[in-house]
Amino acid sequence: MKIHEYQAKELFRKYNVPTPEGGVSDSVAGVKDIAAELGLPVAVKAQIHAGGRGKGGGVKLAGTDDEVTTAADAILGMTLVTKQTGPEGRVVKKVLVEKGVGIQKELYLSIIPDRETACITIVASQDGGMDIEEVAEKSPERIIKVPVNPVTGIQGYHLRQVMFGIELEKPLMKEFSAVLRNLYNLFVDYDCSMVEINPLIVTDDNSIVALDAKMDIDSNALFRHPDVMEMHDPNEDDPTEAEAAKFGLNYINLDGNVGNMVNGAGLAMATMDIIKQAGAEPANFLDVGGGANAEMVENGFRLILSDPKVKGILINIFGGILRCDVLAQGVVQAAKKVKLSLPVVVRMEGTNVEEGRRILAESGLELINATDLADAAGKVAGIVA
Ligand code: GDP
Ligand code: MN
Repeated sequence: MKIHEYQAKELFRKYNVPTPEGGVSDSVAGVKDIAAELGLPVAVKAQIHAGGRGKGGGVKLAGTDDEVTTAADAILGMTLVTKQTGPEGRVVKKVLVEKGVGIQKELYLSIIPDRETACITIVASQDGGMDIEEVAEKSPERIIKVPVNPVTGIQGYHLRQVMFGIELEKPLMKEFSAVLRNLYNLFVDYDCSMVEINPLIVTDDNSIVALDAKMDIDSNALFRHPDVMEMHDPNEDDPTEAEAAKFGLNYINLDGNVGNMVNGAGLAMATMDIIKQAGAEPANFLDVGGGANAEMVENGFRLILSDPKVKGILINIFGGILRCDVLAQGVVQAAKKVKLSLPVVVRMEGTNVEEGRRILAESGLELINATDLADAAGKVAGIVA
């Protein structure tokens, strides 16, 4: 689960990772109050779960009272479009107002788990700031990676490897070491899948401050972190995914136009692969689960249909615990309720398959039967092409 910058910074402060002073507000009047308390200049920063806010106009510096009002007015309520939000953008409901800091240098620092090395990996660069993606593309050698074995934890040599790697000046090393150690501990204690500071700055008066903060916490570990659970912002949830969670369905929204409904996560992954192999793109991942009933199938079907991207649907069920007749009933129920207008390809095998096929055939729905997986993928890809 992602949290907002202002929330991540609360956790940073708890772990002695320095951040600028600030406060959060959802109104122009509130922003003015915070700015008056902090003193000018201030930075006004949109709080959404996506990076690239600066370039999209979601971060503004204000040096006068008028500029504070203008910035708050412009950012609160705006639809902020960044590289990470997609073209539809996100509506800004809250801003973080922070005491303006003089920047001498912008660094990049993040911690992520790395599957390949099975290590917690520190990623750092001396070229931090808003163009880090460009650095990664054009001068990747300026971004260093230091793997830390989670069993030994972070050691002095890791810290030195990072600091020499980013050519940090000697007088800053003590402070940087403390920041990195603290950030590492935060990462581990909070079961993070990502912590990122971009930029981590060297201020005009030579101290190190986290100017930005991003944190992603493993949702499976949230039961251990009630403080983080309280930070959940339903505003940031994908509406379809939130709806799916209510029904107990595993649904993930993707970019393609083939909606698909599958039972079992493994089969769902394989189905997405064959959709791609047939030259099309999946619009979602949906595992209705082994023990799905007709109602869950119906809900799943409605979720897929609520996605305007979907041009065709592939139902791929291997009836084991979920019987084919139950699936068929769910599909028919849903199709009738929502007045199905999209082509649906069905590939179904397993328990009660004959009964399932009979229900579908007698439903009066125009369903396209597939003989096997490859046939199903080919047919649906042909439809959406
Ligand atoms: P992002 O674009 O979503 O990553 O948002 P950031 O929090 O990183 O802000 C974008 C940029 O705004 C930073 O890289 C800084 O250059 C600048 N910025 C943000 N806060 C301040 C501040 O307090 N003082 C100054 N001088 N610049 C700031
Ligand atoms: Mn940033």
